[in-house]
Amino acid sequence: TSIDDPSSTGHEQVVFCQDTQTGLRAIIGIYSTALGPALGGTRFYPYASEEAALADVLDLSRGMAYKNALAGLDLGGGKAVIWGDPDQLKSEPLLRAYGRFVESLNGRYYTACDVGTYVADMDVIARETRYVTGRSVEHGGAGDSSVLTAWGVFQGMRAAAEHVWGAPTLNGRRVGVAGLGKVGKHLTRHLLDDHAEVVATDVDPRAREWVRANHPQVELVDDAAALVAADIDVYAPCALGGALDDDTVPALRAKVVAGAANNQLAHPGIEKLLADRGILYAPDYVVNAGGVIQVADEIEGFNFERAKLRATRIYDTTRQILRLADDEGVPPAVAADRLAERRMAEVGRLRTIH
Ligand code: NAD
Repeated sequence: TSIDDPSSTGHEQVVFCQDTQTGLRAIIGIYSTALGPALGGTRFYPYASEEAALADVLDLSRGMAYKNALAGLDLGGGKAVIWGDPDQLKSEPLLRAYGRFVESLNGRYYTACDVGTYVADMDVIARETRYVTGRSVEHGGAGDSSVLTAWGVFQGMRAAAEHVWGAPTLNGRRVGVAGLGKVGKHLTRHLLDDHAEVVATDVDPRAREWVRANHPQVELVDDAAALVAADIDVYAPCALGGALDDDTVPALRAKVVAGAANNQLAHPGIEKLLADRGILYAPDYVVNAGGVIQVADEIEGFNFERAKLRATRIYDTTRQILRLADDEGVPPAVAADRLAERRMAEVGRLRTIH
């Protein structure tokens, strides 16, 4: 696909929004509404150029369609970017101007938090539009989505462990957690509850201090490279994207990769490199869907137990994908894409029958 040829990307709709008074420049990308309204967060980021912002929103909105499809949600895929530095630009009028653009799409797109936007921002946007999730608990929202993101990653990891070692547990396994942020902390707790050994790292000294104070049995290593080279069974990237690249994959000692970070594969082809080394990769967008499941539940009126049940099913979905990958002789990332495309096509077709 190329942004020079808009028809090649497969998106349904791309909306450019501008409000000169507040400095708002936003792009809303709707990849697919085959399964329902498009849902995906708003990224507020100082892109180097409009082209960079557009490329990101096209990629991210497509990714959300696949994620939402495999999460079993009746939602399509979309995403938005606000182009600029949030520290300088973010204001009530700007967020409300953005909310009015979201409202103007009449429910074709639901927004939520992403990099650079927070629950409090969603509350402001909600003053202009109904089509916003990930709101604060005081406003009936789902609150911090990292809770079910971590729960879902743990479920996906259990399915991967079962596929490789025969039992759906991390009991006795050494799991390397790279990134002890919101998700990594919850994940560490689930792993310890399951009697796994946890080895971890984080660049932020506060996160390291948190581990020492709360879970002294967790072994800390210097950096992600040390974790990759460590004697671990499972590697869980929970920091930034691109954790799996041409340097890390050959060095990795783990047999399983399952983590929360988005876009773990640095470039296409890495999934093949992992498969060739006999490393089972549980696709990131499959196992980290707990967060979108949590915020999507809010559209029906938030019920934590219902959302948790749905996030627990990430275990079944991951299992299904790993089996399909074996049956079709393809890496799990390819099997996941096929399954998502199948659901979008088959269920999407029904939604066009009147
Ligand atoms: P966060 O910002 O709370 O945590 C990220 C942590 O990674 C921070 O503690 C940071 O210090 C650490 N880190 C950054 N670079 C590092 C490096 N090079 N080595 C080691 N540690 C490093 O973010 P989060 O909400 O926990 O999300 C983690 C990842 O999961 C992100 O990639 C995010 O996109 C993805 N994700 C999050 C959610 C969610 O609901 N929060 C949902 C889906 C996916």
